[in-house]
This record gives sequence, C-alpha cells and structure tokens, in this order.
Amino acid sequence: MASNPVPITVAHGDGIGPEIMAACLHIMKEAGARLAIETIEIGEKGYLRGINSGMEPSAWESLRRTKVFFKAPITTPQGGGFKSLNVTTRKTLGLYANVRPCVSYDPYVETKHPGMDVVIVRENEEDLYAGIEHRQTDEVYQCLKLISRPGSEKIVRYAFEYARRNNRKKVTCFTKDNIMKFTDGLFHKVFDEVGAEYPEFEKEHWIVDIGAAKMADTPEAFDVIVMPNLYGDILSDVAAQIAGSVGLAGSANIGDHCAMFEAIHGSAPRRAGQNLANPSGLLQGGLLMLVHIGQADVAETIQNAWLRTIEDGVHTYDIFKQGTSKQKVGTKEFADAVVTRLGKKPEKLKPAAYSKAPKQTVNQSLKQHAQARKELIGVDIFFDWKQRDPVEFGKKVEAFNGNGLKLLLVSNRGIKVYPNGFEETFCTDHWRARFKADREGDPISHGQIVDLLRRIGDAKLDFIKTENLYTFDGQKGFVSAQGE
Ligand code: NAD
Repeated sequence: MASNPVPITVAHGDGIGPEIMAACLHIMKEAGARLAIETIEIGEKGYLRGINSGMEPSAWESLRRTKVFFKAPITTPQGGGFKSLNVTTRKTLGLYANVRPCVSYDPYVETKHPGMDVVIVRENEEDLYAGIEHRQTDEVYQCLKLISRPGSEKIVRYAFEYARRNNRKKVTCFTKDNIMKFTDGLFHKVFDEVGAEYPEFEKEHWIVDIGAAKMADTPEAFDVIVMPNLYGDILSDVAAQIAGSVGLAGSANIGDHCAMFEAIHGSAPRRAGQNLANPSGLLQGGLLMLVHIGQADVAETIQNAWLRTIEDGVHTYDIFKQGTSKQKVGTKEFADAVVTRLGKKPEKLKPAAYSKAPKQTVNQSLKQHAQARKELIGVDIFFDWKQRDPVEFGKKVEAFNGNGLKLLLVSNRGIKVYPNGFEETFCTDHWRARFKADREGDPISHGQIVDLLRRIGDAKLDFIKTENLYTFDGQKGFVSAQGE
C-alpha cells in the first residue's frame, strides 16, 4: 500500500545526535518508510550564534509546515540564560502529551523487573513548568504551579484514548491531592470525571509518593499512568531506568496540530564521534512517529527486527553484558544488524503488533462547563518584613483595618502565626495577611482593596503581591491557612 512520502522535519542534534540519527534514518529507509525529510539545524550551534531559543525562524517554519518533528538530542549550554529548546518547542507547538513506553527486554537486557510494560503519559505544558518564578524577598523565592481544567481534561482523555487504541487494561492517576487540594485536586477530579466515560478500564488513583515507590518496586502492577508535569518528568526517567536503560526508551510529544518524537536521553557529549552510542532510544521515538503518520506497518517490521537483534545478543556497549550478550557493536554496526533482520521476528520476546490507528492525536472536544458565579470576599496581601516577630507584625497590619475590611490572620510560609500563633514556629521575611469583610463572608469591592493597599503603601510597608479571595457558586476558592 505505497503512499506518498510524508513530510517530516529532522534535526540531527548535538553530541551523539548525528550518529544515532543517521543510524535510525538508515534503518527506516531500508524498511521502506515513506518520508520526505526536511533537515533543520538546532541546538548548540544556534545557541552559540546568539539565538536564545536554539532554533532559527526557518526551523520553526519547517515545523509548522510538516507538523512532525523527529529530533535527536541536543546540548543546552550551561549558564548564559539559554532557554531549554525542549520546553520552548513543547509549549510553542502546544504539545500537551508526553508519552513514554517503558518496557523491559529480559533476559537480554539486564533488569530487576522482567515483564515490565508501563506507559507514562505526562502532562507537558502546565504545573510548575509554566516558568512563572519570582524572587519576592531576601529569603523567599516562588514558583507558580498552574493546573487548568482544559489542560487536565486533555491529558486525561489522551491517556484513556491511548489505552483504548493500544489494548491496555488499566489507567492509573498519580497526584499529591492530599496536600495540594486545589491544583492536584482538580487533576484527580478530572481523572474521575473523564474516566467515567471509559467504563472498560480498571481505574485507580495513587498519592504520588507511595505510587512512585510501588512503581519502582512492582511496576507490573501498572499499565498506563497519567500524571501532572513534574511527577511525570521524574517518574518517566525512573520507569525507563528500571526497565533496563534510559538508552532504550523513546518518547512522543503530541499536540492537536504537531508532534515531536525523540529519545529520552541527552546528547552524551563524552561518547560523541566514537561510533559507540546506542541508537535504540531514538529509534523507539521514531517508531512512535511512524505509527503517528500512518506507517504502523513499517514500524512493526522495524520493531520486530530490532527485538530480534537484541535477542541475538548484538548489543552496544551500554547494554553489553558478558554472558548474555554475544557481540559488542558500534552504532553503525548495530543499525546494520537491524537492517539484516528486517522481515524477521523475535523468537522469545513478544513480537510487536502496532495498533493500526492512523494517528495518535485525539479529538479533543472539551466539555462545556457553566461559568461559576464568582464573588470577591477578601484579599491575601503578602509582605517583605525583616523582623521575625509575628505578634509585632500582626499588630502592625491590624492597624490598617478600616473601610469595611479587617485582618483575619497572619501566616508565614502558610502557617498561621497571628493571632494565637506558636512561639516555636520559625518565621522568614515573607508574610501573608488575610483581610476579609467586617462581617466574614460578605462581598467586598476591588476599591476597598485598593484603599487598603494605599494605606499600607503610605505607611511604607513593602507589600509584594496580593491574591484575591473568591467564592465560586458559594464554594471557597482558596484554602485555609494551616492552623486557621
Ligand atoms: P545524557 O542522557 O546525555 O547522558 C547520561 C549518561 O547516559 C551518560 O553516561 C551517557 O554516556 C549515557 N548515554 C546516554 N545516551 C546514550 C546512548 N544513546 N548510548 C549510550 N550511552 C548513552 O545526559 P547528560 O549527560 O545529563 O546530558 C548531556 C547533555 O544532553 C546536556 O547538555 C543536556 O542538557 C542534554 N539533554 C538533552 C535532552 C534532549 O535533547 N531531549 C535530554 C536530556 C539531556
């Protein structure tokens, strides 16, 4: 079923990138992949030419044209304020889903977890990766954690659709919603809501700490795991490592319009130019790409030849083990070994059977939610104040009561310290004063907050930011201070 070549954008990257990309493209060509390749240069050279994002405008044009990006690892120069090209690409192109299959190849690649076959689906755009960070006082720095309902719906739906297309049985969600009740709480809630539309799957939620421990200990207990960005970033590396090697795993970054495919490892500069690196991680990313562009048949042929190569003990240095491995080979020889096995299947390992689904993108029609009735009922004002005495500070800010607003409490790093705080609580220079209406729960106006800030400013107290306190349909849109 020959079809027209599919345009893709390829970046050969830095370090070991060019060698492993050449190996992958050689295997794909020999396997009959129908690709029209546009090559772009990104990474270290671009950074060093002064392009802060590491990517020229012409590279972006190619990506927007082909919408498919096959990317070798790149080197992010240390220091100098360079932006991570990966984060920029994911966010600019709206690649909201990061998918990492982590499979063990026991007994051919050493692993503590034979039979491991876990897919991590990581939210890719939100959470602590929004890049909104501030230094607010001498002592305190802040990073904003943003979780949105549409962002959560998209990633959770993607995970269930992925599970459906790939004949998976169970979808698990990891969050820390016992602590982050609003942000992670929303993610968990959306998991329950969207999950209800997929009755055929077993579903469960784990608090991320014990879930991570369980995954590292008994990965067979999991199938597809969906999680917010930071947990997914960390745990997908853990999962790849315990499966056997980070050198064997690839990943897909999927958006509504574009997709990017890569290895999960970096550019390993110390191994560059020596024909040593294992091209398998990038190849696995490439196979996800072939499935994505509707060439699952080619992906299947390559994966079976690759499995046979691994099974035959033809290994690069990183997975070579005396006794198990038969032949230690370089990057090129490994690619040649895969090519000579095209058409063959593994004898012991489970042969690949890729879903024939033409694309991994998911039709995302977000649920319509009635807009909540939002009412302003107070304000948290944050201060930079150097003395560490909470009673002195509490009395100072209490003096600003007036015009229908009064101080309810003062907290330091989230713990109530005034009134009736504990002497033992350590205080930094970062204080929060919560003001509400004289009769708690009554609505207030923006004007009252502005007046209050003016009084504080006139008294030369350094307020560093405010957060308004709202109710949504009568439900509190903020959490109580610890000890409130
Ligand atoms: P790395 O993944 O490059 O290397 C970690 C270790 O794994 C090294 O010992 C390396 O020799 C080995 N290794 C990695 N890939 C291998 C392969 N294919 N075959 C054999 N051995 C392999 O991580 P690092 O050293 O922390 O980072 C190096 C550079 O890569 C940094 O500049 C970093 O910013 C960049 N990086 C890029 C990406 C990406 O482009 N997606 C991801 C991670 C790191």
